[in-house]
Amino acid sequence: MHQRIYIREMKHLMTVIACIVFIIGFSQEDYTAKREQMVKMQLKARGIKDGATLLAMQDVPRHLFVPENMKPYAYADGPLPIGNGQTISQPYIVAFMTEALQLKQNDKVLEIGTGSGYQAAILAKIVDSVYTIEIVKNLAFKAKDRLQELGYANVKVKWGDGYHGWPEKAPFDAIIVTAGADSIPQPLIEQLKRNGRMIIPVGPHNYTSYLELVTKKKNTITKKKLLPVRFVPFIRDKKSGGDKK
Ligand code: SAH
Repeated sequence: MHQRIYIREMKHLMTVIACIVFIIGFSQEDYTAKREQMVKMQLKARGIKDGATLLAMQDVPRHLFVPENMKPYAYADGPLPIGNGQTISQPYIVAFMTEALQLKQNDKVLEIGTGSGYQAAILAKIVDSVYTIEIVKNLAFKAKDRLQELGYANVKVKWGDGYHGWPEKAPFDAIIVTAGADSIPQPLIEQLKRNGRMIIPVGPHNYTSYLELVTKKKNTITKKKLLPVRFVPFIRDKKSGGDKK
């Protein structure tokens, strides 16, 4: 008698577990399919060709970098709010900036403007080491925890003013700035290696900025305007000059 009840309960439990596994599996598949659509329609269709960039964009779970109520829109063709008045960039812009850096696997990359940590995760899929600086304390610590939980062990996050770069870890093969600056911070140019590349949105406050590709040769710096864009502003920490870990 007891045994029959036990078997019935076990069957019931197994059904519940099967349902949970099915629901989790189904929603994961849904996100994977949405990501495939994003890569095809928003990136490949608009000319993103770099294989490593496309693979990273296919791989990184963007929905885990946005607030809970934004998850349904994580793969939409636009930027999204991430709290503290900041945004995660449109997928196309993330891919465009990543491709422009012409990354190689053993490159060391600096990002200014960690935000959600999404761009850092994309970079971490492509290169060996990523350093990223965020000026808003809450965002810096949240991104640090998120990247750690998701297993991006090759990303180091620092809370501070990215204007100064990260001199202890310089020079860098590539630098990416994800906030709109009115001019290119000199310390960042100094922290680029020879043949290093920097991508940065530059323009006067409240006007259209351009994504500029800066390349450092032996004695020269070349700048090329690539694309008109709108970014949240590059903030300066006037009190301390930044640099808190
Ligand atoms: N790359 C981010 C999105 C960046 S939004 C992502 O993938 O989610 C731009 C970010 O730059 C914001 O979080 C903003 O707080 C930060 N920021 C602005 N000025 C900064 C500065 N001087 N140093 C470091 N971070 C800065």
